[in-house]
Amino acid sequence: MKIALVGIGKIAIDQHVPAIANSKDWELAATVSRKGAVDGVESFTDFAAFLAARPDVPVVSLCLPPVPRFDYAEAALNAGRHVMLEKPPGATLAEVHALEALAASKGLTLYTTWHSRMAHAVAPAKAWLADKTIRKAHITWREDVRKWHPGQDWVFEPGGMGVFDPGINALSILTEILPAPVHLTAATLEFPSNRQTPIAAKLTFSGNVTADFDWRQEGPQTWDIEVETDHGPMALRMGGNVLEIDGNPAGGENTIMGEYPALYARMAELVATKSSEIDLAPMVHVADALTLGRRLETTAFDF
Ligand code: NAP
Repeated sequence: MKIALVGIGKIAIDQHVPAIANSKDWELAATVSRKGAVDGVESFTDFAAFLAARPDVPVVSLCLPPVPRFDYAEAALNAGRHVMLEKPPGATLAEVHALEALAASKGLTLYTTWHSRMAHAVAPAKAWLADKTIRKAHITWREDVRKWHPGQDWVFEPGGMGVFDPGINALSILTEILPAPVHLTAATLEFPSNRQTPIAAKLTFSGNVTADFDWRQEGPQTWDIEVETDHGPMALRMGGNVLEIDGNPAGGENTIMGEYPALYARMAELVATKSSEIDLAPMVHVADALTLGRRLETTAFDF
């Protein structure tokens, strides 16, 4: 099936283009980006021009940052195209509800992707936890913003979500693997004095669940979720790719290359079965943290 990629930037080049190129389901038929392009693929700089010129492309995958993405998603659905959304699926919860209603009214597929849920050890962790009692869980998600978002000032603008841009990946795993939902009860957010979004956050949830997100970690990066259960400890490391049970390796592999191919395979299934997959649970926690969080000011940040 033909697909168009919109917003040819870091994640499109790193992950979407190779995942589509290696997929038996998809053919990259066009790109839409003001500056970016992919060699050998027809490129447009204007989305309306693409929609008018290429009615033969039934699916669009939107890799833009969250704030500009809604207008593209709405236009695509109004033009009868199925839509796949990068994470987070929108800048606000309400706009994703609006897209959900629009997709349903048109009989089109809308897929709110959460790439970290496709990490190798997430499904085995969920299966292992299914019949356990959770006593405690802690997320440590500490990475270097300069490495993963070089020069991307949008992450510090309103709607860019700051450290929740990576932190929502951890929350997408948490909301997938826990046998019962939790809700946020407190948060502390550190805002650089010159920025609009937090660079670090500490979160407390019901059920003895806590999280520590920090975007200032240089050197080795930490993406861990540690869970204490009535049957001993379980940990997901390396962003959900490696599973430990009782402190021993229990599966997974330390590579992220499988996540985006799995997302595109799922999109192919959704389109084929005329269904949608829309889950806002990770984003509800971020919205709640921004609603309830105590604000601290910290050192100014520049790339
Ligand atoms: P990015 O490189 O800064 O942006 C992607 C592209 O979107 C840009 O190259 C730009 O292309 C276009 N764009 C940016 N602002 C725009 C605007 N206001 N209007 C229209 N087009 C605009 O960002 P990214 O790192 O790829 O992230 C994009 C999304 O993927 C985010 O939601 C992020 O959370 C998610 N993601 C990122 C990573 C990562 O490691 N960076 C990993 C997983 C998921 P043109 O200038 O050519 O139009």
